[in-house]
Amino acid sequence: MREIIVLGSTGSIGRQALEVVKHFPERFRVKGLAAGKNWELLRQQVLTFHPEVVALADEREARLLKETLPATEHLSILWGEEALLQLASWPGADTVLVAVTGVAGWQPTLAAIRASKRVALANKETLVVAGELVMQEARRRGAPLLPVDSEHSAIWQCLEGKGEVKSITLTASGGPFRNYTREELARVQPGEALCHPTWRMGPKITIDSATLMNKGLEVIEAHWLFDLDYDKIKVLIHPQSIVHGLVELADGTWLGALSVTDMRLPILYALSHPERVANDLFLLDLARVGSLTFAEPDLERFPCLRLALEAGRVGGTMPTVLNAANEVAVMAFLAEKLAFLGIPAVVEAVMERHQVVKKLTPEAIATADAWARQEAEALINKC
Ligand code: NDP
Repeated sequence: MREIIVLGSTGSIGRQALEVVKHFPERFRVKGLAAGKNWELLRQQVLTFHPEVVALADEREARLLKETLPATEHLSILWGEEALLQLASWPGADTVLVAVTGVAGWQPTLAAIRASKRVALANKETLVVAGELVMQEARRRGAPLLPVDSEHSAIWQCLEGKGEVKSITLTASGGPFRNYTREELARVQPGEALCHPTWRMGPKITIDSATLMNKGLEVIEAHWLFDLDYDKIKVLIHPQSIVHGLVELADGTWLGALSVTDMRLPILYALSHPERVANDLFLLDLARVGSLTFAEPDLERFPCLRLALEAGRVGGTMPTVLNAANEVAVMAFLAEKLAFLGIPAVVEAVMERHQVVKKLTPEAIATADAWARQEAEALINKC
């Protein structure tokens, strides 16, 4: 029985992880849950899964949860900045699924590694901002970092036991605006960008998929996760989202992992690894899919991918700056304060102004993150 902590249980990945737990109660038990603000959904999750501990971002929501839970639920309720860290290292839990969104993910990931937990990592920002620190610590402790992102899960499964590889390829659906011209992209509204053609995800990652920033963040994630030079990491547009990742072996053979477009499958594999859980939930009918197509991404129309590749190659604090400026720009786009093409424009302008600090420390990350957010906000306010 795996005892699981889910950080971000009220989000898209968190809710799907709890569905997986519900399907396989003989394998997984929920030990702890953490949410940001959505205490009402967290309350329902407590009543269904009876965790030992929960955490919310603020005291107000934590109090509301406490006041409305029946006296029969005996659990610790934490809140505040330290709460995620406490949950990540909670005694008795063996696996921590990090599914919070944004830069909030990296410190809990590090805390879970330091507490010798198995870490199922959905939060891609962790490796974007702190890949070097997190991977160093994971290697030092021999702590497994189990990818949840579907592309990385695919590549991880293809790589297992394969030795040296020539390249890996992350596939991208191309998002809803794959065939748009720049003029059409300039007019895109938040409502259209939130309708992803193949995946149902939280709002931030859905916008990142539409700009292809998501794929750029994934390239940086793959660089750290698989310890590969950027030259060996490729991206292909694959609108059907059936082939999630590919590995090219030294002799020219290609391996790919194919499955239905359902995040519960990579979540299940990360939680159950190294076991594979037999089930009838994820049936892929290739004859019905019909054709699988692949194309090069267009870096002119989708500059966010180019910017992320540049930031990854520069390294140091540049990926933190890319990520922070992007988070601010995406929120401004969703609030209709910035145009769709304003997202890459803001990210690029902030990156151009940044003085990179090569030696990555927690303080350098925090300073670069705060600086980039301020710069991005100032630029957006001038628009
Ligand atoms: P959502 O926006 O749907 O959910 C985010 C979750 O994080 C919510 O539970 C939210 O709580 C919680 N949260 C946010 N900030 C905090 C905080 N400071 N403290 C505690 N909890 C917090 O995001 P997704 O599930 O879509 O994505 C989560 C991560 O997984 C992202 O890094 C994303 O890139 C990655 N990912 C997502 C995929 C997907 O299919 N969705 C696929 C691959 C990777 P609340 O809602 O209660 O405020």
